[in-house]
Amino acid sequence: MNHVFEVSSRTQTLQRSRLLRALRSGRRYDIVIIGGGASGLGCAVDAAARGHSVVLLEGHDFCKGTSSRATKLIHGGVRYLAQGNVPLVREALLERSRLLANAPHLVHPLRFVVPTYRRRDALFIGMGLTAYDLLAGTHGIEHCRTLDRKETLAALPTVSAERLRGGIAYWDAQFDDARLGISLMRTAFDLGAIALNYVVVEALLRDGGRVRGVIARDVETGEVLHVGARAVINATGVWADGVRRLERPDAAALLRPSQGVHVVVDRKFLPGRDALLVPRTVDGRVLFAIPWQGRVVIGTTDTARADAPLEPRPLAGEVHFILATAARHLDRAPGREDVRSVFAGLRPLIDAKPRTGTRRLSREHLVEVSEGGLVTITGGKWTTYRRMGEDAVDAAEAACGLPAGRCVTGELRLHGAPAPVVSIGGHPRREAGRVDDAYGSDRAAVDALPGAGQVLQPGLTLTEAEVRHAARHELARTVEDVLARRHRALFLDARLALAAAPSVARILAEELRRDAWWCEAEVQRFAALAAQYSDPGPLRP
Ligand SMILES: Cc1cc2nc3c(=O)[nH]c(=O)nc-3n(C[C@H](O)[C@H](O)[C@H](O)COP(=O)(O)OP(=O)(O)OC[C@H]3O[C@@H](n4cnc5c(N)ncnc54)[C@H](O)[C@@H]3O)c2cc1C
Repeated sequence: MNHVFEVSSRTQTLQRSRLLRALRSGRRYDIVIIGGGASGLGCAVDAAARGHSVVLLEGHDFCKGTSSRATKLIHGGVRYLAQGNVPLVREALLERSRLLANAPHLVHPLRFVVPTYRRRDALFIGMGLTAYDLLAGTHGIEHCRTLDRKETLAALPTVSAERLRGGIAYWDAQFDDARLGISLMRTAFDLGAIALNYVVVEALLRDGGRVRGVIARDVETGEVLHVGARAVINATGVWADGVRRLERPDAAALLRPSQGVHVVVDRKFLPGRDALLVPRTVDGRVLFAIPWQGRVVIGTTDTARADAPLEPRPLAGEVHFILATAARHLDRAPGREDVRSVFAGLRPLIDAKPRTGTRRLSREHLVEVSEGGLVTITGGKWTTYRRMGEDAVDAAEAACGLPAGRCVTGELRLHGAPAPVVSIGGHPRREAGRVDDAYGSDRAAVDALPGAGQVLQPGLTLTEAEVRHAARHELARTVEDVLARRHRALFLDARLALAAAPSVARILAEELRRDAWWCEAEVQRFAALAAQYSDPGPLRP
């Protein structure tokens, strides 16, 4: 094995200074990956598990981009089935079953209920969901079934009852997106790779027309780093065209970003254990209301965007559309004043058919190898990140003369995965919708740190020990890293997250040896972000 680190990160403190020293060593790595979202982290785990030496560089924090802003579903996508995209659904259902087995601390089965108001709807939806089950085959969770009116109201106590006939229940899975990213980052370290956040790639190293590494900048110090590699993988999501143009400034765009917004509200608006799926909104999409970590996530929208900001904001009408659609389907519906957090993300959609609306663009992924050997992996979904990693590493090996390794990630348990507790249909099963322990087998290590059980803010589960663990073992560098992605407070309740910010800053300052000025600046910076997440944005289009 050609590993960068031999010591498992289970016991290893991930010190930024030490990781940077490894980058300065002048060593040429097998693969440098640009981007630390689902795609890049999936590539890093795949490549390191094959025995390649790997460096991943993320310009901001891991999963700061699209990968912390998903609907939190690991799913085949009933909607893609309705569009007739059977291969995509089949592949995603296989990946769903792998994730349920390999990351049971972060991915859980969840039952969805589709309320029905007309007999022919029940028939049509029932047929579609039976086909979904059939496609899952032996990888299915549980079969879909028809519910009568009483059962539907028991499952979804707040659903609009007038003219309700019944419902159809089916199974998919939900997850914590940013925490899965952190688990992948730590899995990559366990396998000997290096991953660093706050190191932005600004140029490509070239040798005789071939791409042979990157020139990157440490965002914290401004230091410029030259990192040589036999292969470079560009996994930068909606920013992938920008990185492609570092090699070929005239490269035609591959991507067309599409924005999706979610709002988060209290559980009283959907108090049952099941999720609600509205199969057809007025703009022909689906809308989900999903119990998640003690709150309810409702979304999403699909709005084409020409730009790709790091912190996209809801556009005029997006939150209004979500709340108005929810009000059509819930007897107790949230208003703007009930929104605890609102977040927007950008889908990296592949622009295969430039004249269609973005909702018809492909959710499949694409691997491009340039003449100079730059491998770009983009498109896809969180659910298929593992397959994307496999395809990108296959392409890098073939294009850049690396020895062909065997992909082993299909059966690779991710960092923190505890031993399965109960097995149903081959999948470890937990209670759907409850607040699960995302630390899995790391919990003992977290609770061995000072401040275990010391909750920092009533209404949030975050403890002092978890902040220390984030700094020591999860490369958290800022208050935002802790409150947005190591813990999901910013996404669950932006005001409570802001209330926790001074305590988080103080503990981080102790861990990272920062002064009072740093604490103050961090809290101020976080306050500006939290204000954005508490603001439902413009009322109407
Ligand atoms: C609203 C919405 C809902 C979704 N819901 C689901 C869902 O429920 N289930 C599902 O399976 N999928 C879902 N998806 C899709 C899924 O979230 C994305 O496909 C996936 O997160 C994309 O990951 P990525 O790594 O390609 O991109 P990103 O997560 O955006 O990662 C790219 C990274 O590259 C970094 N970067 C950019 N330029 C540089 C540079 N020069 N140097 C270093 N780093 C750089 C960025 O900082 C960023 O962190 C959803 C998407 C959206 C928008």
